[in-house]
Amino acid sequence: MSYTMKVLELAKQNNPSEPEFHQAMTEILPTLQPFIDEHPEYEKEKILERLVEPERQIIFRVPWVDDNGEIQVNRGFRVQFNSAIGPYKGGLRFHPSVTLSVIKFLGFEQIFKNSLTGLPIGGGKGGSDFDPKGKSDREVMSFCQSFMNELCKYLGVNEDIPAGDIGVGGREIGFMYGQYKRITGQYEGVLTGKGLTYGGSLVRTEATGYGLVYMAESMLRSKGESFIGKKVVISGSGNVAIFAAEKATQFDAKVITMSDSNGYVHDPEGIDIDAVKQIKLGRRGRIKEYLEFRPHAKYFEKGLVWSTPCDIALPCATQNELLVDGAELLIKNGCVVVAEGSNMPTSLEATHMLQESGVMFAPGKAANAGGVAVSALEMAQNSSRISWSFEEVDNKLRSIMRNIYTSSSSAAEDYGMKGNLVAGANIAGFKKVADAMLLQGAV
Ligand code: NDP
Repeated sequence: MSYTMKVLELAKQNNPSEPEFHQAMTEILPTLQPFIDEHPEYEKEKILERLVEPERQIIFRVPWVDDNGEIQVNRGFRVQFNSAIGPYKGGLRFHPSVTLSVIKFLGFEQIFKNSLTGLPIGGGKGGSDFDPKGKSDREVMSFCQSFMNELCKYLGVNEDIPAGDIGVGGREIGFMYGQYKRITGQYEGVLTGKGLTYGGSLVRTEATGYGLVYMAESMLRSKGESFIGKKVVISGSGNVAIFAAEKATQFDAKVITMSDSNGYVHDPEGIDIDAVKQIKLGRRGRIKEYLEFRPHAKYFEKGLVWSTPCDIALPCATQNELLVDGAELLIKNGCVVVAEGSNMPTSLEATHMLQESGVMFAPGKAANAGGVAVSALEMAQNSSRISWSFEEVDNKLRSIMRNIYTSSSSAAEDYGMKGNLVAGANIAGFKKVADAMLLQGAV
């Protein structure tokens, strides 16, 4: 059995009942084998055995008081996965589906993603099974303050710097930052995604969605194509989806769908982004309310958003949202590019199917790295106590995304897998972390 398969089997045994973590390791480890074959030192120094074991996992109780005066209890997590190339960095997710397995899959992916940005940030992830949906602002504040009461013990500008993810946007980051400051008395950039009036960076809100479109732009360019006139199907209608839709529209593509966990809208004339912003960012409503703004659009409560014929598909909601049935529909309808905005949206089988059919495919760890990249730029601005202009940050983001595309496609080509951005991103991300681990000894 190869080294990567041996480590994979062992890690599965050591972490039973963690299906999402197993899935992430299964997607990454085997693709590293051709690279590891040329570097026996990684096996000798047990780099993979160390890589799959988080440096630290913290699980804690989060008690808070709801609007009826009742005490509620949720569970909080922070997995500090790997600090070989910098302090732990990765988002916090608040969603009822959050488990240790989900946080570990996200944290494991984050190690490779952060490395790919070329910036000095290690991998971590956290969150809670708390559901902000339907809660009042006061309830969300009560939860966030309690969550930070415990989490603050493990954070620091040179130690661990969380950001947002599903269910954690500007409101939640603000409440958590306020509580951190109150407890520690420190005004420091210990969270990213902060508001612009208290240390946030321009473009951070837009970064993941814009970065995703910059990645797809590089993929299209490699085939002499562009976004102009292309039909784009997007799932989700949160932070990543909205700004991916905005940038694709600015690039003269037509975005025709957006969704949430209840259903999807299809607007053949092109999604009205301002309407979606009003619904989702303004009143925190449901995507079906889009029909109030654009009555000609259609709303589907059942069925797959991927059944809508398109040239480009951008999954931007959550994990395992694009399975074999969705991949078959995309292939049948002539889709040419799939780039993942969400983390691990495409199952392994569906990924293989798309790749084998010649669809250009970019994995989330490369395609959605723009968010964490601009988070690192926010950290740089906080440390030097300056703010860069929108244009300056956006230009840096675009160049980081181009570099990620180039390093991923070159690594794939170097190891005989031309065009396979999944393997290329894994190898390019792994190399830097593994070499740093070798140089730092058995820590
Ligand atoms: P948001 O909470 O802003 O939006 C999430 C969107 O996905 C909502 O439309 C939500 O619908 C939908 N969604 C969530 N869970 C499900 C589900 N189980 N089934 C169907 N739809 C669902 O999150 P983000 O936009 O920030 O994150 C989206 C994805 O992008 C995640 O995978 C995240 O890890 C990834 N990502 C985010 C980054 C960021 O900077 N924010 C950075 C890199 C990756 P509903 O409102 O109905 O729940």
